[in-house]
This record gives sequence, C-alpha cells and structure tokens, in this order.
Amino acid sequence: MSNLELLVDLHKNNYRQGPGSDQITEQVLDWTDLESKTDLQVADIGCGTGASTFVLASKLDAKITAVDLFPEFLDKLQMKAKELNLDQKISTKVESMDNLSFVNNSLDLILSEGAIYNIGFQKGLEYWHQFLKTGGFIAISEIIWLSEKRPEEIQNHWQTEYPEIDSLANKIKMLETSGFSLIDSLVLPKTAWLENYYQPLENGFAEFLNRNNNSKEAQEILKSEENEIELYHKYSDYFSYGYFLAKKI
Ligand code: SAH
Repeated sequence: MSNLELLVDLHKNNYRQGPGSDQITEQVLDWTDLESKTDLQVADIGCGTGASTFVLASKLDAKITAVDLFPEFLDKLQMKAKELNLDQKISTKVESMDNLSFVNNSLDLILSEGAIYNIGFQKGLEYWHQFLKTGGFIAISEIIWLSEKRPEEIQNHWQTEYPEIDSLANKIKMLETSGFSLIDSLVLPKTAWLENYYQPLENGFAEFLNRNNNSKEAQEILKSEENEIELYHKYSDYFSYGYFLAKKI
C-alpha cells in the first residue's frame, strides 16, 4: 500500500476525518435561512465519510452532492446513506476540489469542513465562488492561530505543514476581499478535536497496525499522527479551527 492508501485505510472507519461536531454544523446552518427553503442545491466538499453530509441531509430540503478525492470514503458514505434511507437526497462525486464539475451560479450552499487547506483557503474561496448563486452561502472550517504570540515549536510545525494558517481576523478579511459578506464565525472547542476526532482515531491504531502487518510504513504514519496529537495537547491554546459562514454578494 502507498502512504496515501495507508492514510485512507487509517481514517476510513471513523465517523470524522478531521476536527468537528454535528452540533456546530447545525448551529452554522441555523445562521442561514436555508431551513425555510425548498429544493436546494448543496455541495459538501472534501466530505470524507460524510459526518457533515448527514447533518445537511437531516436539516435541509436539498439535493446534496458529496465530493471527495478518495472513492473509499465515498463508498462508506453511500452505504450509510442507504442505511439511513437518505440516498435519494445524497449523491457522491469523486473529484478534486480544484477541478469541480458544478454548473456556475447553481449552488445555494457550499459547505466544507477541515478540507479546504488541501488547495489553500484563498485559492479555494476564489475558485468555489463561481459555483454559488448570488446570495448563496459558504460554510467553511479552516485552521487558525488563536494568539499573536506563539511558542517556536508550534509556530515552526504549522509554518511547515500549512503556511496559510492565520488568525480568525485575517481569514475573515480574506473572505471579505473574495466577494463574500461575513455572517458569523466561531472557534471549534477542544471537544471537537479530542472527543470527536483524536480519541476515535487513536482507538483504531492497534487494529490499523494489525491490518497492515505491523509494517514500517504503517508505524511511520502512526508516529506522525501521534506527534500531531501530542502537539495539540501541548499547544491547544494557540491554534484551533475557525468556522466561517459567509454569503456570496
Ligand atoms: N469533511 C470531513 C473530512 C475532512 S479531512 C470531516 O470533517 O470529517 C479532508 C478531506 O479532504 C478528506 O476526506 C480527503 O480525502 C479530502 N481531500 C483531500 N484532497 C482533496 C482534493 N484535492 N479534492 C477533494 N477532496 C480532497
């Protein structure tokens, strides 16, 4: 298995592939007026196995297109959609988020949790803008700094991993300069990282190693995940995810 395949294998049995919370997704949707509308067109980009997709399906009268680069995640999502009898509302697309096949001005909402970093916040905003109707919403979570002063270790880590990491205020500014009008924002609480993401991930480590015959590559992947988790425990006062809701104007 390649490293990418191993990463998919590590994450595919989990409910989430990144920090988040169903309650917070619901709260962000409550900031919109979409629940009173019918026949909506919605995209969940970088959906993974679909934690947020199912919140969308339960709250909105919408056709939801769940997009991800990895079919293994979408297969899981589709199986669950069938189980929940939501497969009429949800369809999946294997596509890269920087090369989407949506029609221009067609979407009422683009939601993307913990995924836009794959192409970068600025690039993603500018590229996705065209697919929204005027007045359509964008709901995005993105990693942010929580403090101007940062210990060197965590500064260097994120500077290497994702140089676009920035403050909530600067991310908001970027939305405002990319053709959007900000509605509201929040910071994900620690439970969204620990209880909802890292703990379930760690619970699967032993089985992941077993499945992959304790290979050196599998061990390396776990080492890097463990390092990330340790950094979170040490420095959670300095970074989190911001969740932004804005409207295309
Ligand atoms: N939104 C999900 C998954 C977040 S993890 C959740 O919050 O649980 C990031 C997701 O982005 C993964 O599912 C990964 O497969 C997907 N991804 C990575 N690069 C991508 C790309 N270029 N295009 C579409 N999806 C991508």
